Amino acid sequence: MSHPSSPPTTHGRFASWRAQWLIFAAPFVLVLLVRATPVRSQTSNYEFNDSHFHLTNNIQEGPTIHDFLNMMGNKAGRVALFGVPLQQQWSYQVDGDRAPTYYLHSDAALYYYSFTDAWIAMAYKSLPKEQQARFDPMITGFNPTDMYAADHIRRVLQTFPGVFTGIGEFTIHKEFVSAKIPGEVASLQNPALDRIFDLAAEVGLVVILHNDIDIPIARDVAKDESEPAYLNQLKVVFKRHAKTTIIWAHMGLGRLVAPPKEHLAQIEAMLRDPDFRNVYLDISWDEVAKYFVASPEATKGLADLIERYPDRFLFGSDAAAPADQSKYLKVFYQYGPLWKSLDAETSGKVRLRNYERIFDEGRRKVRSWENAHVPSVS
Ligand SMILES: [Zn+2]
Repeated sequence: MSHPSSPPTTHGRFASWRAQWLIFAAPFVLVLLVRATPVRSQTSNYEFNDSHFHLTNNIQEGPTIHDFLNMMGNKAGRVALFGVPLQQQWSYQVDGDRAPTYYLHSDAALYYYSFTDAWIAMAYKSLPKEQQARFDPMITGFNPTDMYAADHIRRVLQTFPGVFTGIGEFTIHKEFVSAKIPGEVASLQNPALDRIFDLAAEVGLVVILHNDIDIPIARDVAKDESEPAYLNQLKVVFKRHAKTTIIWAHMGLGRLVAPPKEHLAQIEAMLRDPDFRNVYLDISWDEVAKYFVASPEATKGLADLIERYPDRFLFGSDAAAPADQSKYLKVFYQYGPLWKSLDAETSGKVRLRNYERIFDEGRRKVRSWENAHVPSVS
């Protein structure tokens, strides 16, 4: 070992260079290490997070949240949980003793059923904390044509602080549903909708909106060049509410609303436009998956688009009051060809991480709004 007074030996000089080099290189190595380590999300052990799930059906029936947790098992990590805010009336005059359970089972009307929010809140509150962490309850029990709808949402947050992460799925235009609701027909041009989106932006609520991109007619998509009926109105609303985090359910498609000719291009035009950076898309519902797994080309078209915008798509089941796990998991497995087509990182984002990013941010914002606005919390 050399003495401090003696001139530095070659060995000593080499040791100090190595130390200096290590100090210099350390941060870079660290960055490389971090980059190389795959991002472990809270729900990596699960197959998917479900951004679109109805615990109850059109007559407010369904499994208990405990039964549903068993169906989630080790497949679904977190779930955006809501009811179906439109009650199918059982009109004896129309259906006699035959009790309808779905909106297509009767000509009798649908009506807005606000108690669904209390039902969902109490189901959530019946769980222990660690199980509550797997759910993001959503408020749906309001009439979107009512200028007071925003006040209903505020009242639910004040009544059940610490529970909800967002609003929706709520519906404006949906094939036969919209016309079955008596009274004012929901519209994208109604200022009541602006009040709802403004409140969502103020509070930080994640919004799930169901609005068909087009009207449900057997449009000959090959020939018919005209714009899908609701696309431009939707764009106006999305742009006007740039501060609101909006998930457009089903990419605007549905049972009777097939992809318009330029559907993926129309979606891409929005995703490319920074004015729509607040808009996300869920690919939920078996009636939507059917279009994208119908052929390898259809799957590839969607996969290519998702890989160009991997942060903007979320998986969702759109299961409603499933009877058992196999029914609940149907849509996830129906999308098997898509999961095979996506690269691992993109698939992880669509199945798991986009959900976490969007709903974690929602939770954080809503809790802090409640701290500031709900007397019982603050
Ligand atoms: Zn739905």
